[in-house]
Amino acid sequence: WSRVMTVLERQSMSQVSFDTWFKDMKLKEIDEANHRFYVLVTSDFIKHRIENNPSQLRTLKRCIGEVTENDYDVIIMTAGESLQHSDDEYKPESRLNPKYIFENFVVGKSNEFAHAASLSVAENYKDPSLAHSNPLFIYGGVGLGKTHLMQAIGHFVYQQDPSKKILYVTSEQFTNELINSIQTNKNEQFRNKYRKVDVLLIDDIQFIADKDRTQEEFFHTFNELHGSNKQIVLTSDKPPKDIQSLEERLISRFAWGLVVDIGTPDLETRIAILRSKADSEGYDVPMDVINFIAKNVKSNIRELEGALSRVMAYSKLTTGSITEQTASIVLRDIYNTKKEKLIDAKLIKTVVAKHYHLSIQELDSKKRTKNIAYPRQIAMYITRELTDLSLPKIGEEFGGRDHTTVIHAYNKIREDMDDTSFKIKINALIKEIKE
Ligand code: ADP
Ligand code: MG
Repeated sequence: WSRVMTVLERQSMSQVSFDTWFKDMKLKEIDEANHRFYVLVTSDFIKHRIENNPSQLRTLKRCIGEVTENDYDVIIMTAGESLQHSDDEYKPESRLNPKYIFENFVVGKSNEFAHAASLSVAENYKDPSLAHSNPLFIYGGVGLGKTHLMQAIGHFVYQQDPSKKILYVTSEQFTNELINSIQTNKNEQFRNKYRKVDVLLIDDIQFIADKDRTQEEFFHTFNELHGSNKQIVLTSDKPPKDIQSLEERLISRFAWGLVVDIGTPDLETRIAILRSKADSEGYDVPMDVINFIAKNVKSNIRELEGALSRVMAYSKLTTGSITEQTASIVLRDIYNTKKEKLIDAKLIKTVVAKHYHLSIQELDSKKRTKNIAYPRQIAMYITRELTDLSLPKIGEEFGGRDHTTVIHAYNKIREDMDDTSFKIKINALIKEIKE
């Protein structure tokens, strides 16, 4: 900017005119994507004069061009004005978390499908119809990576083509903007904004349920974008059909493209995520500490990250060295990491067998009479729920059965859990095992 000023001073008609109009000018922002230079002047009066004086504006533009060797449009602003240039709202930097990129996303069994689907959508940004995933609907519990994946799509597309209009909003923001636009009679502006985008990312769409006007507006936005082959990505905590009081017509549209879920990460994935976080933060964390955290913090990835930071913060404050001992102290209160009793298949079989007055040998046996087969299925179900054992491993634990038998048992019991009294019984068993 100082070079621009030097050139400008040289090229101005006179020193007086330079001092009057240009001397106090400052650079506000350069918008590379839209080839714009935003410059700041000290008063409305000066802004007006420059804007209405073609030769001054031309001089300014020429000087900027000379220094940058580029052709920019010049926009004059005063301090009170905020950057409201039309395309600004589509620039992902302003809304996306820079860390939420594909490169930082660890892929494991629980998220590989959602990851593959997101990558495919991102790669087919030129023609969304090729990915057969419009809309892409990602659902799953909190802290499992939905927002991360969704924003990774935005970053990816923007990197490939910065002229693409990418809009990321939460469904609350969408709703609030809509309400504001109605109150200020700017509904038209709202529509234009949303219906002009190339990639629309709406996070936590479940919150538009029970808001009629928002659903209505979103319905039209959806149709418009989908009809012109623009990509829509949605996330939610549940699959479309389970979102209470969501309009039928939206439920059916959400299922037009691809619906994928993200599950809770297994132990290996949790370890991989912790290692990757530790690396990217430059932490040197011993493997046994990583394992310890991964074993104890299972609910979701946000908690996993939180646990790692807490352990790191603690060890910085104290000895500086990180041991399993420190980790256990730090996490004890939060995650119940007191020398946790290991829950394994043996323990589960013991409790279930006792409850049904059977022996463990009977559970493992080939006998298929209902009074044995059913408790066996229950035990397999609980093993799947409470341990990290894979399906084939569970089969092995139960007298060398095939993994399909385990799946069958698991699904059967899960279905039977629809019956409330049965569910209570199973939960009581689970509680007994945990205790
Ligand atoms: P959600 O939107 O499902 O609630 P987020 O996308 O906000 O979850 O993820 C929570 C945190 O966990 C974020 O910091 C995110 O970067 C991180 N995270 C989630 N999944 C992964 C993953 N597979 N690899 C690395 N980090 C992840
Ligand atoms: Mg989220």
